[in-house]
Amino acid sequence: MKIDTLGEFTFHAGRPWLDFIATQADLHATQPLERLSDTSRLAEWLRRGMGAEPEVKVTEADLDLARWARDALQALADSAIAGTAPPIAAVAAANRAIEPYTPPRAWVDEGRLRHSGPHSVETAMSWLALEAVLMLSGDDARQLRRCAADDCGDVFADPSGRRRWCPGDRCGVKQRVRAHRERNRETGS
Ligand SMILES: [Zn+2]
Repeated sequence: MKIDTLGEFTFHAGRPWLDFIATQADLHATQPLERLSDTSRLAEWLRRGMGAEPEVKVTEADLDLARWARDALQALADSAIAGTAPPIAAVAAANRAIEPYTPPRAWVDEGRLRHSGPHSVETAMSWLALEAVLMLSGDDARQLRRCAADDCGDVFADPSGRRRWCPGDRCGVKQRVRAHRERNRETGS
């Protein structure tokens, strides 16, 4: 059974900005996993994670911007979970990322409400940074959890407050397999 998602994107952290910081995975492993390996991967994430139109162009500078914004949001999430004051540099970076914010447009399509996706990487980062700041400065910050797997480090929103492993099956399944093996070893079967 293949239980490692390797380079695949995950979209189950509960908020787009948390899915975005999960594009750098296994933060606590010896070799963190970079899922935004090039501009086309970032373009793919923006389409799948934020509904960006396929024509949104992604340059190398955009990729740098995205990774820079991601580092800032990761630092803000880490400090929220640790219960420490957010690093000033990360707050400044979040403010800079939010600055070019332009709102989405809403419309009705076949009776359902829709909204436009971000029209540039800059806009996408402003939405994600704003979302992070609004969550972390409000009561919902208490929903943030970090996966209990030693090598994972994924952060996710858990309204129930009962989740130990990151959503999706990756770490939960690994843990169950390990527990099963240990039980078998103990019973000699
Ligand atoms: Zn995990």
